[in-house]
Amino acid sequence: MISKIINENLIQATKKEIESANKIVIVSHMSPDGDSIGSSLAWANFLKLLGKEVTVIVPNAYPDFFGWMPGISEVLVYAEKKELAEEAIRKSDLIFALDFNVLKRIGDMAASVADAAAKKILVDHHLDPGNFADVVISYPSMTSTSEMIFRLICRMGYFTEMTVECAECIFVGLLTDTGSFSYNSNNPELYTIVSQLIMKGVDKDEISRKINNNFSEGRFRLLGFLLNEKLKIYPEIGAAMMCLRKEELGRFVYKTGDTEGFVNIPLSIKGVVFSVFIKEDVDRIRFSFRSQGDVEANKFAAAFFNGGGHKNAAGGTMFTSIEEAVRCFEEKLPLIADELKREVKRQELSMKEKPVVFE
Ligand code: 5GP
Ligand code: MN
Repeated sequence: MISKIINENLIQATKKEIESANKIVIVSHMSPDGDSIGSSLAWANFLKLLGKEVTVIVPNAYPDFFGWMPGISEVLVYAEKKELAEEAIRKSDLIFALDFNVLKRIGDMAASVADAAAKKILVDHHLDPGNFADVVISYPSMTSTSEMIFRLICRMGYFTEMTVECAECIFVGLLTDTGSFSYNSNNPELYTIVSQLIMKGVDKDEISRKINNNFSEGRFRLLGFLLNEKLKIYPEIGAAMMCLRKEELGRFVYKTGDTEGFVNIPLSIKGVVFSVFIKEDVDRIRFSFRSQGDVEANKFAAAFFNGGGHKNAAGGTMFTSIEEAVRCFEEKLPLIADELKREVKRQELSMKEKPVVFE
């Protein structure tokens, strides 16, 4: 049994808005990831089943390894097809905002979405939802927006009708937002959902392969370079940092999204509980933070790097040079030293033999 977490009034409000809409637009956040793409495509698949005209719009390009996902060729990339995207937004009756909390997360699309006459429904699992939507379905306890889409479809009474393609897209979101079920994945209901998706026909192992074992050679060599030459460890507090300059990126055969996930890798090192990846983008510096246990990466991101996110996975932005960004990070890091050391200690203790207790 899966519990009814989403409030019934929200389910009914969503149902009502869908019934009275014909043209529906789904928008999701910048630098699309498995959950933003997975939840958007799954929801689009479901809404099409209900006979709706659906357009999925993402702000910028998605990584190649999502290229197999059902429906992806119809996704409009705003940065590449601005006019078409604007027209779809303008003419829509209903806009679903998936997997982001505030409009600035959709970049240049924000104004068009804010100004659109359409009703707006937010479906998201990040903290602190903004107030731009008419219906706000925000559950930060969920693993992913894709999990919320699964629950919405079931609660609306359409589990039987859910297609295998829809189930595959939902599975991608569950897989990627939990690091292949390695963090934020202790809720037993998650595995009930996975089990139901497999029963729908999802090939879990095949999808894991397509998502996780699909590095291009260039991406792999870039990772090698970062780990060998750019990784800095702060052993006394269990932190790690890698930074990447634009010109360093130029030495590799590189595609959008290729650095996705790199920030997680230093957490595999014993004693490292906090990892940051600092990347020089075209016009800004992007920070990715990952933490373990009780270390609150989102608070650190929000306090010093204009960002936020989840407890263990957050991001931020600065408009400075990369040197200044690194300097700023190293200046702020000691402020959470105690928090980091506590988690290092907890992990050390957890590695000691646990005595067997007989009743
Ligand atoms: P990533 O490191 O993959 O870019 O982001 C990790 C998580 O933090 C994602 O769930 C993402 O939604 C969130 N995140 C990334 N950047 C920001 C930001 O600037 N603001 C907020 N509020 N969340 C962010
Ligand atoms: Mn997500």
